[in-house]
Amino acid sequence: MERINCLIIGGGPAGYTAAIYASRAALAPVLYEGNVPGGQLTTTTVVENFPGYPKGVDANQLMADMREQAVNLGADIRRGVVTKADLGVRPFRLTVDGATELEADALIIATGATARYLGLPSEEKFRGLGVSACATCDGFFYRKKDVAVVGGGDTACEEATYLAGLCRKVYMIVRRDVLRASVAMQERVKNTPNIEILWNCNTQEILGDASGVTGARLVRKDGEVFDIQVDGFFLAIGHHPESELFAPWVTTDPNGYIVTDGGSSRTNVEGVFAAGDVQDPVYRQAVNAAASGCRAALDAEKYLKR
Ligand code: NDP
Repeated sequence: MERINCLIIGGGPAGYTAAIYASRAALAPVLYEGNVPGGQLTTTTVVENFPGYPKGVDANQLMADMREQAVNLGADIRRGVVTKADLGVRPFRLTVDGATELEADALIIATGATARYLGLPSEEKFRGLGVSACATCDGFFYRKKDVAVVGGGDTACEEATYLAGLCRKVYMIVRRDVLRASVAMQERVKNTPNIEILWNCNTQEILGDASGVTGARLVRKDGEVFDIQVDGFFLAIGHHPESELFAPWVTTDPNGYIVTDGGSSRTNVEGVFAAGDVQDPVYRQAVNAAASGCRAALDAEKYLKR
C-alpha cells in the first residue's frame, strides 16, 4: 500500500496553495483533486478581486496557474475522489475512487463547500450567464442593473446589501413571511431603500434568452404567479461543506463546517488539518482559502517535523 507523507484532498485554491507550500517544505505532498478540479471558482468567469491581477483573470486560468505552480514545485497532483477515510488509525487510511487504498502521515482537508441551488433546469441553463451563488464574485457585473437574491438568511441579507451598493434595485425572494437572518442584518436590509423584499415567494422559473437572464417567474403562497425583470439572479440559500467523510473523527459545527483551533488549521485530530471553505462559514473567498491552505501546509510541516 502506498504511504504518503502529506496528503491533500481538494483541488481548489486552498488545496493548491497547501501543495505549493508543502512542496517547498519538502513534504512530498500528494493532492487528490476530487470531482471538480479547480473548485468552486470554475463556476464563475472573470475574477477581479484576487490580488495581483490588475485587469482581472479568467477563473479557470487562475486555477490552472495555481495547479501548474504546485506541479512545478514538485507536488504530485492526481485525479481521483477520496471515498473513504479512517482517521482513527496511524497512519491514516484512505480509499480513492472506491478502489485504491492509501496511508497518510498528515492530512490536509481542503474539500470546500458547495453552494445550494434550487434545482430548476433554467437555473442550470443560465449558470454563469446571470445565475450566480456569489455576490462578492459576480455582483460587479450588474452595476446599475436590477438583480434578485433568493434566501432570507444572513448570507442573503449580506449579499443583498452588498448588491444594493452596486445595483439599481435588489429584490429579495423570501419563501416565508419572516427572515431567518439575525436582527442586525434584518435591520440593515430594511434600512436599504433599493431592496424590496418579496415575501412568501418561490421561484418557478428563471427567464432568459441567448444573452442570459432577463427575469424570474415567481409564485406567491396565495397562488399568484408574476414575473420580475432582472439581469442577475443570486442564490443565497446556504452552503454545504464537504466534510461528511471525516465527521466521525473531526469535530464539525452544527452546519457541518470543520472546527479548527483558533487561527490555525489544526482539527481535534492530531495530524489532520483543514483549509478553505470546508472550515470557513463566513468569508468564503478564494484569497482566504489560499491563505488558509498556506497555514495548513505550515501546520503540517511543523507536525511532520516534530
Ligand atoms: P441559512 O441556512 O441561515 O439560511 C438559508 C436561507 O435560505 C433561509 O432563509 C431559508 O429559508 C432559505 N432557503 C433554503 N432553501 C430554500 C429554497 N429551496 N428556496 C428558497 N429559500 C430557501 O444559510 P446562510 O448561508 O444564510 O447562513 C449559514 C450560516 O452562516 C448561518 O449560521 C449564518 O448565521 C452564518 N452567517 C453569518 C454571517 C455573519 O455573521 N456575518 C454571514 C453569513 C452567514 P427558511 O428560513 O424558510 O428556511
